Amino acid sequence: MAIEPLSEETVRLLAAGEVIDSLAAVVRELVDNSLDAGADRIRVNLWPDQWRIQVQDNGSGIPEADLIWLAHSHTTSKLRNVRDLQALHTLGFRGEGLHSIAVVSDLEVHTADSDSSRRARYDHEGNLNLSESAAAAPGTVITVHELFARQPVRRRFLADRRQQIRQVTQLLQRYALGFPGNLFELAVDGRVTQKLWPAPGLRERVLQLLPQHDEHDLREATSPDQQVRLVLGLPDRCSRSRSDWVYLFINRRFIRHLDLESAIQKGFERTLRRGRYPVCIVHLTLPSQVVDWNRHPAKLEVQLAQTDLVAAQIVATIGNALREFAPRPAPDLLRLAEANAGYNAETPSGGLLKALSQMQNTYILAEYPGGLCLVEQHVAHERILFEALEASWQLVPIDPPIVLELSDSEADHLQLQGLELEAFGPRTWLVRRIPELLLGREDCQAGLKEMASYPDLQDMRVALACRTAIRNGTPLDPARMQELIDQWQRTRNPHTCPHGRPIYMPLTDGELARFFRRRWHICGS
Ligand code: ADP
Ligand code: MG
Repeated sequence: MAIEPLSEETVRLLAAGEVIDSLAAVVRELVDNSLDAGADRIRVNLWPDQWRIQVQDNGSGIPEADLIWLAHSHTTSKLRNVRDLQALHTLGFRGEGLHSIAVVSDLEVHTADSDSSRRARYDHEGNLNLSESAAAAPGTVITVHELFARQPVRRRFLADRRQQIRQVTQLLQRYALGFPGNLFELAVDGRVTQKLWPAPGLRERVLQLLPQHDEHDLREATSPDQQVRLVLGLPDRCSRSRSDWVYLFINRRFIRHLDLESAIQKGFERTLRRGRYPVCIVHLTLPSQVVDWNRHPAKLEVQLAQTDLVAAQIVATIGNALREFAPRPAPDLLRLAEANAGYNAETPSGGLLKALSQMQNTYILAEYPGGLCLVEQHVAHERILFEALEASWQLVPIDPPIVLELSDSEADHLQLQGLELEAFGPRTWLVRRIPELLLGREDCQAGLKEMASYPDLQDMRVALACRTAIRNGTPLDPARMQELIDQWQRTRNPHTCPHGRPIYMPLTDGELARFFRRRWHICGS
């Protein structure tokens, strides 16, 4: 489609375009355009001290006849009328990006399509003031010179050089996760600082960006209708100390959406240690009619029809990804084995575990078709009980009641969750209904007191599960061990306990074979 001015009626309906206020804002407009032009190789060059930015792409190029409109206000090839807003497939659509850049810089374009190859320059109103034939590789190179030269105040108040570079690096990381098959390269002052080669899939892209992890640390899942596709870090192996690795894309555009981000957090609820945050990249593929992109200047926030439905799908897809039991090779043994043998990454297959014996009255040794596994009995049981409490919060009457010393707020906490309390004196209460798990336990009183300290039901369930789970040091007979292993394998998240501690340590067949050098033919075994 050729570049044309939008009608006044359409312009009136568009949210104001974003102000160009940083190097990253320029890069975003330019990379959006490159991706819209179908480019799959994009290089960003920054010369921060010269206030110069350049984006090179191998996209469709710009036809010569379009150059005149390129940097005018509200001129675009991506939208014709209001109706098109409902069927957007491009990252840009307001026709304002290059115009707002031209206003604050000297804009230069080199471009080549199948018919011509040109160089063009623009003045600060976005008028074409030079267009000449010039050699150029297929695609487009846009150079922004002298950014903010005429806005000295903006230059002065801009974040420092390091922060500007960091913002651009993070931005490219976002694009790289949105478009895993593309090549993205960043060079600062001519030196390449980041090069992300085309990856075969999202999982491989994540590993390029988190090289300290390997494929066993991640899990991929897709919802049955293919609308939700995600890659996540298994909570016991791959998490963050800050909430900086939750990425949400709709039709490959990075967005922020409070409700959907909470859905992601909810999917990981009680699987991570306190103070740890998930690694999760969610791609939503939605019909463009259900998304309103025209909400926010940077198109970062969108309005969605049926948010609840999408949120529920995200939670379910994360749940499916976490549920699967697939042990990974234990890293240290692998390293030992690798020292002499070639390392072939293999994914051990899961299967039903058979309890063999108990070690130190603490670990259950279990066998599965792909190897062995040590399961810590307390945390495994804690996970089982916690999920059972989540599924049903059973309260039962007791007679005689339990006498408990509680502050008013502690009493409130218990009453809020349905425990029946009766005032018996200053700070003294009679408890007449308690969680079934505490029934008949000697430490019932202590358990209730502990629960009362939490205002939140989830925290209460965790405390209760932890208190009532089989203690380490308790001997178990074979039937009880097997029962525990079976129940644990059926949990929603068999990887970590509700505090985020790992539950099992696997040892796969492949590792054992490598460790014992079973491929060496020495004694004919
Ligand atoms: P928008 O992206 O909203 O259309 P812009 O001002 O960013 O507005 O770009 C105006 C037009 O310039 C685009 O619609 C597109 O046709 C053309 N264009 C900009 N950058 C490129 C590029 N790298 N390759 C091909 N065409 C481009
Ligand atoms: Mg644009």
